[in-house]
Amino acid sequence: MEQMNNQDIQQKSIDDDSMEKEASTGVINSLEKKIYELRNLIEMGMSLSSNLEFKSLVESILYSCIGQMFVEKVAIILQEDIDKDSYSIHMAKGYDEEFSRSAIVFDENSALIRHLEKEAFPHLSTDLREHPELRHDLNSIAMLDAEVVVPLVSKSSMNGLLVLGEKIDGSAFTPDNMEFLRDLARFAAIAVENSRLYLMATLDRMTHLYIHHFFQERLNEELKRSVRYGTPLSLIISDIDHFKRFNDTYGHQQGDVVLKETAQILRESVRGFDIAARYGGEEFAVILPETDLGDAIVVAKRLRKRIEQHGFHGQTAPLHVTVSIGVAQYDPERDEGKESLIDRADRAMYRAKDAGRNRVVVIK
Ligand code: GH3
Ligand code: MG
Ligand code: MG
Repeated sequence: MEQMNNQDIQQKSIDDDSMEKEASTGVINSLEKKIYELRNLIEMGMSLSSNLEFKSLVESILYSCIGQMFVEKVAIILQEDIDKDSYSIHMAKGYDEEFSRSAIVFDENSALIRHLEKEAFPHLSTDLREHPELRHDLNSIAMLDAEVVVPLVSKSSMNGLLVLGEKIDGSAFTPDNMEFLRDLARFAAIAVENSRLYLMATLDRMTHLYIHHFFQERLNEELKRSVRYGTPLSLIISDIDHFKRFNDTYGHQQGDVVLKETAQILRESVRGFDIAARYGGEEFAVILPETDLGDAIVVAKRLRKRIEQHGFHGQTAPLHVTVSIGVAQYDPERDEGKESLIDRADRAMYRAKDAGRNRVVVIK
């Protein structure tokens, strides 16, 4: 064997040193990356679990996917209702076409849902396509250009799926990516379920408007905000005219149809951050934050007209009803709390009744 001279030995130890350094720099880099990813995940988990507002929660899940995975297209397929077993596209980002929420994608017998329930981790769609029994379901979501399908499983029940399109740079999803998506999906599934339960507890089952109790709570909050920021706030109360007579003529079930359709018109007549509630049996109320009396009257008049013109779905022919509406604006100088505001809007509504119904009345 050749003898090493001193210089060789020195050189070798320098080489060893630099290799060791390189190796440890590599380890540190990958640890730093891991720590960074974990921090991201914790932050995302905290922000998802503190978000009970359904729409903004779903939106932030989708944006987390886009931001962390560098994809352009992402969609979320959710169980339509907590007690229904059909799944439809709930929200999608990055697609040219608008997906209709009502288009049901899977039903309870879907092979894909059952497969993902068992194998509750992210799958590449190329792997899923290996299973012939899943192809039918994969074809029914072909318009989503799925590269990865991520099940949202919470307490062993399937809330839905996340579908991610290809990465912007065309690269493949790495095992790290898949691990990240699995962790994100765990947080997302629990957050979706919590938010849904919260929604169920605050929404009226028939009209899907907020229940009375939640309305009162939100009014307290909005009044505080209005006082703090000096912004106006108005309240609308509406009551269906001669509804008892309507029920007596067409039956209670037909009355329920009117309530549901009226609620839908109400939702479509106000802004996303207005708070529409079923105040009583056939009485509805809307809190309009950052809205003065003039603007609230415009909303109320539009609502009155739309209901008057609407043909409610009837057994043989469209049916018609009208509403009487009272409007009032919160006046911090005069109103101690919400009670006197509600009282003014309520009195305005009764004045509309007395004046002949089917009209908007304001009490200043
Ligand atoms: P007015 O024009 O004075 O408001 O007359 P009205 O008959 O509508 O009188 P009122 O508001 O006092 O009557 C409420 C009626 O609404 C009585 C009840 O039968 C009906 N109602 C309340 N809740 C429901 C419901 O959930 N479904 C149906 N179908 N009817 C309801
Ligand atoms: Mg009434
Ligand atoms: Mg009535």
